[in-house]
Amino acid sequence: MDVINLLQHRYKKSSISHSLRKALSNGEIKVFYQPKIEAGSTRVVGAEALVRWQKPDGSFIYPDMFIPALEENGSIVELDFFVYEQVFKKLHERVRERKPIVPVSMNVSRAHLEDGRIYNYIRNLFKKYHVLPKYTEFELTESMYVQNIDTIFAVVKEFREKGGRISMDDFGSGYSSLNLLTDLPIDTLKVDRVFLKSDHLNENEKTVLSCVLEMAKKLHMDVVCEGVETDEQSRFLSLLGCDMFQGFLYAKPLPENEYYEYLEAHLETEINEVHFSFDGHLKDDTGKYEGIVLGDNITFCDGPANGMSGLHFGGGEPMHNSVELPVELLKNDSFSINMWIKEEYARLWTSAYYVGYENGFCSIMPRGWDMKLNFRIKDASDHDGWYDTGNQTIKSQEWIMVTACYNSANHVSTVYINGERTGLINDVINLISPKNILIGGDIYAKGFEGCVSDLRIFDQALSFEAVKRMYDKVKEKQKNSSQWQQGSRQGEKLTNKRIPLEELHYSLNGNLEEASGKPELKYNGQELAFEEGPWEGSLGVTLKGGNIKENVLIVPELPEQMDGYTISYWIKDENPRPWVSSFYAGTKHGFMSEIPLTADGKSMYRLKDTLRETEWRDTIWERFMDKGKWHHIVLIYQKDIRMIAHYVDGKSNGIKDDCFDIGEITQMIFGGDVFTMSFEGAIADIHIYNQPLEIEAILERTEK
Ligand code: C2E
Ligand code: MG
Ligand code: MG
Repeated sequence: MDVINLLQHRYKKSSISHSLRKALSNGEIKVFYQPKIEAGSTRVVGAEALVRWQKPDGSFIYPDMFIPALEENGSIVELDFFVYEQVFKKLHERVRERKPIVPVSMNVSRAHLEDGRIYNYIRNLFKKYHVLPKYTEFELTESMYVQNIDTIFAVVKEFREKGGRISMDDFGSGYSSLNLLTDLPIDTLKVDRVFLKSDHLNENEKTVLSCVLEMAKKLHMDVVCEGVETDEQSRFLSLLGCDMFQGFLYAKPLPENEYYEYLEAHLETEINEVHFSFDGHLKDDTGKYEGIVLGDNITFCDGPANGMSGLHFGGGEPMHNSVELPVELLKNDSFSINMWIKEEYARLWTSAYYVGYENGFCSIMPRGWDMKLNFRIKDASDHDGWYDTGNQTIKSQEWIMVTACYNSANHVSTVYINGERTGLINDVINLISPKNILIGGDIYAKGFEGCVSDLRIFDQALSFEAVKRMYDKVKEKQKNSSQWQQGSRQGEKLTNKRIPLEELHYSLNGNLEEASGKPELKYNGQELAFEEGPWEGSLGVTLKGGNIKENVLIVPELPEQMDGYTISYWIKDENPRPWVSSFYAGTKHGFMSEIPLTADGKSMYRLKDTLRETEWRDTIWERFMDKGKWHHIVLIYQKDIRMIAHYVDGKSNGIKDDCFDIGEITQMIFGGDVFTMSFEGAIADIHIYNQPLEIEAILERTEK
């Protein structure tokens, strides 16, 4: 006789109630708890109470062996009441001890429908133990609904009104009646483990599961998937939007004390938040972190609701018109970014938020693939290492809340739009060592045009609930802002925190003078000669070439404060030879130079750190400079974010980020460098600015 038969034989209807009573009074009936894990993290967000019968010899009898018999004679009701009381008692005890709790769900047997005492019993438990209804959930099975829809409906309704939750257990295991779902107030759908029979899901199983999940989501139910045993299952279900997992992959049903130990080890760790309100300044709430303005087209503006402020970005070249935040605020590999954005101009691949890392970058792009919002993580070491998620088209000219989370524990990145999850991907690389944070732009594409408000950066991946709460808070504010006059802030200019702008201008129109009376350029040669310049009536200095530093122009005195630079000048190359510089800037431990012709026929702007023997940073593009023709060169060195940009005739000839800090600028030479032969041709109209400017601004200033 096998065990089940033996038990059924032994606990015949008449005697089983007696045995149960004995077991209850002997303490043989135990309540175990199986944790429910949040998808996308390893946090415990709930538990299910499961009964266990432990014989005096220590062996266990599992529910499937005795519950059917107890259900038949109705004594399951006593057992359930015992379980409920244990659960309530423990919750009460922990609240009193100020220890953390999460909701516990309890099974309701169909025998309660006949018995009818359950409602009063539960009501008394709430009275006796003062447990908040939101910490309890009752699990009903499909078959119960089918059999007794009216009675159940009444009980469920009243319980839910108090804030308790109802779940439908074992969904899909038996009497599935889909139209039940349309009528019944159910908070959680527990998908039965029959769907996860095999370790590897086949196509049909995947199809059915994805339809079940989609349906549940559309009906605004949370979904718990039962019986998750493998990584593959958990990954697939996460992707489909499953909210919670209950399964051996994470934890088996545990004795009470072990469960609460597990809970404490898997509770949300404390989340740190850095919040920027942009309320007339760029400081975070604590004043510890402050952004700096890059560019001059950023203003304060109204936020999404009364009392909220934002930043308005005017767009522009890469790295311009964005706000840089100190990287020190990123303390963890896991993170979440929450921000409100209002896009004014839909531009493909522009970033509203960007962080460059040692091994890649992450960025929130309002318009990515198919013009949909995209949260991108890029692995710099892998050519094809793009991890994109988001997947929803956002509305322009409207405030929307975007949340992007990355969890380094399980390598999941998730995106929420207006509090709803719209994308999730697995197996995303871990970004390490952040280098720069930008809002309103990135280093690759033109800047974001629109507003950003209420920026929050967290050191953990947020839970779905936390995201929803943030969204609801602002929505509530918006409701109360109906009388609010928008536009009070419009146009309030942000001051650039940079040093005052200084310009040296050598027109070279027949002399070497500086326009404002600063010392003139030094010519390191014998006879100085001028020739026809780039436009009518202009002149330029003839550069005769020669040995190292021979016949070059040297800037005698640099501006007192240099925070990077912008250099604009015209050159004409009469004798193109590879690696000859038209401009050279030496620094404490490095240099930068403009090279009209490289060995492979290109033009570039190069940065070199002499402390790093083998590393160069070059902007190489495909554009050439023609022999004997005037070309306009602009060089930008963005020192704070270590980027160089090269423009030829007003067009970008490449940018290079990730440059090194090569220290203070010590000298500047036009028409040569300190290594090789000098440049042969001519040079005209030199402008030197003591900081990086935007290309448009420079072109305007130098337009003839
Ligand atoms: P249930 O409510 O669907 O509970 C989930 C069952 O799935 C539990 O079995 C749990 O141990 C099992 N399970 C969870 N994760 C996995 C997994 O990854 N793989 C596998 N193979 N199984 C997993 P358990 O504890 O044996 O309970 C069986 C059923 O007995 C429960 O199904 C529930 O219907 C009933 N039950 C248990 N405790 C009570 C109770 O206190 N009252 C009532 N009325 N019924 C109970
Ligand atoms: Mg259950
Ligand atoms: Mg179940």
